[in-house]
Amino acid sequence: MMDQFRAQAERFETEFVNGHVVSVDLDQRPFVLNIESGSELSCDSLIIATGASARWLGLDSETQLRGRGVSACATCDGFFFRDRVIGVVGGGDTAIEEALFLTKFGSAVNVIHRRDELRASRFMQERAFNNDKINFIWDSVVDEVLSEDGTAVNGVRLHNVKSDEVKDLELGGLFIAIGHTPNTGIFNGQLDMNDEGYIKTQLRGTQTSIEGVFACGDAADSIYRQAVTAAGTGCMSAIDAERWLAFRE
Ligand SMILES: Cc1cc2nc3c(=O)[nH]c(=O)nc-3n(C[C@H](O)[C@H](O)[C@H](O)COP(=O)(O)OP(=O)(O)OC[C@H]3O[C@@H](n4cnc5c(N)ncnc54)[C@H](O)[C@@H]3O)c2cc1C
Repeated sequence: MMDQFRAQAERFETEFVNGHVVSVDLDQRPFVLNIESGSELSCDSLIIATGASARWLGLDSETQLRGRGVSACATCDGFFFRDRVIGVVGGGDTAIEEALFLTKFGSAVNVIHRRDELRASRFMQERAFNNDKINFIWDSVVDEVLSEDGTAVNGVRLHNVKSDEVKDLELGGLFIAIGHTPNTGIFNGQLDMNDEGYIKTQLRGTQTSIEGVFACGDAADSIYRQAVTAAGTGCMSAIDAERWLAFRE
């Protein structure tokens, strides 16, 4: 599918440059982008679609089992965990939302939280506490994701941070819900962002705080972060940029 997307863009004479942008200068026009390789690009209008990265625990076993029972997106992967006992790591609104969503699929959902109370809003907490399928494992962190043969998750090794007790918990899947980091660091101090680092755009459109710079997809969306919403706002950015350039001619 990506090959087809690329072929279509090439038909309209899009030039592709592969490389990581390490810094930008949006103070001057045209804007300047510096690529990791040392080369420089300039542009009259810029669309930012750098996405957001899920935060992980940083365990080797977690990395090895990603896509094999470890996930960071309940909406995307919840369906694959039908009738299994599922673990959710986290204690904020996202974790509780994921846990509630996963009760539609799993036989039980264990929320594993490193503290003894949730950060989630009271409303979300009440919904979770009233849900029979959700259990809470307090004061605990995941030390290891367990797998018998490396192809599926069988459980987690938990460490109680208060009692120092270590115990294994059987699970058929593990969702890490400790937040996302938008990939917007290179725009720090140049564009308006919210407290979490998501780029702010106009209410009805994708214009950022600098004229001619547009942002779309997960980099500007702390709420939905879905492929279809990213594609939709990507289309909006393309139209916004095209109109902005046409207006300047
Ligand atoms: C495991 C997983 C499963 C998912 N499943 C679904 C699903 O089933 N349905 C659904 O709707 N959504 C799903 N999503 C969410 C969906 O993938 C995202 O919402 C969507 O990809 C966001 O698109 P984007 O273009 O904003 O960002 P991305 O797809 O993240 O693309 C950002 C791109 O920018 C590049 N980039 C970042 N910084 C720089 C830089 N400095 N210089 C150059 N390039 C840079 C990155 O390398 C990347 O290629 C899933 C996500 C994950 C992680």
